[in-house]
Amino acid sequence: MKIDLSGKNAVVCGASQGIGRAIAIEFAQCGANVVLLARNEESLRKVLRELPASKTQNHNIIIADFSQPEELRNKMKNFASEAKPVHILVNNTGGPKGGEIYKAETIEFELAFRNHLICNQIMVQALLEGMKRNQYGRIINIISTSVKQPIKNLGVSNTIRAAVANWAKTLSVELASFGITVNNILPGATKTERLKGIFRSRSETSGRSIEEIEKESLAEIPAGRFAEPQEPAYAAAFLASPFAAYINGINLPVDGGRLNCL
Ligand code: NAD
Repeated sequence: MKIDLSGKNAVVCGASQGIGRAIAIEFAQCGANVVLLARNEESLRKVLRELPASKTQNHNIIIADFSQPEELRNKMKNFASEAKPVHILVNNTGGPKGGEIYKAETIEFELAFRNHLICNQIMVQALLEGMKRNQYGRIINIISTSVKQPIKNLGVSNTIRAAVANWAKTLSVELASFGITVNNILPGATKTERLKGIFRSRSETSGRSIEEIEKESLAEIPAGRFAEPQEPAYAAAFLASPFAAYINGINLPVDGGRLNCL
């Protein structure tokens, strides 16, 4: 099986670093035309230069902030009216701030809902007509294993991930007859800035060293290592491809076996 995404147009959100960046590179490697979306133009242009490109491939960027849904809606409306229809959408953005849920402020929930759920909805609404026209759509949401098993000290994140997973499952049923699938990737501990940030903040609040916290986290992973960002990206490339046409509405953990449930 060779994954070939040539001729497919993809939009990858949160693509300036981490898992989103790895997905964008993998899609381009498989032949897709990739549009990178994030807030910072300079970092996006850096990733744009790194994308593999044949003579027929065309990559681009959208500068947008998921904490500003109305601006995102306008930008995506313009994009959808000017650009070629999109076949593949990866909904992804930075994770909510950590901490115990009983201490979380109302604004943290509101922000997480906006950044994760409202903006995913805006992205889907903007690109749906194109997918329907193509009779080909792949909506892939990068969520977290906390969909299945809440993670300690990530209270707001645990809450919003469950909402996104239910939104996605509902959507998968509604859109299946158009040749559109909606699936979620649930990364485990993956070597990105997000993971470093989580370890840093755990170290600050507990007074323990980052090395100690890393060791404790590794002990929970049967594979005995953290994931490389490319590993969820391989799963995304498969789900985006025609090979995955009959896989719809699933939560796919890429976690080295860390989840303690089915
Ligand atoms: P990351 O922080 O390294 O990268 C996040 C990306 O989203 C960056 O490109 C960033 O610029 C972009 N982004 C952040 N806020 C944005 C905003 N307001 N508008 C537009 N773009 C924005 O994170 P990551 O490790 O690549 O994780 C991606 C997703 O997967 C996150 O939701 C994260 O919580 C989740 N996740 C990560 C891990 C892990 O161990 N890395 C584990 C489980 C879940």
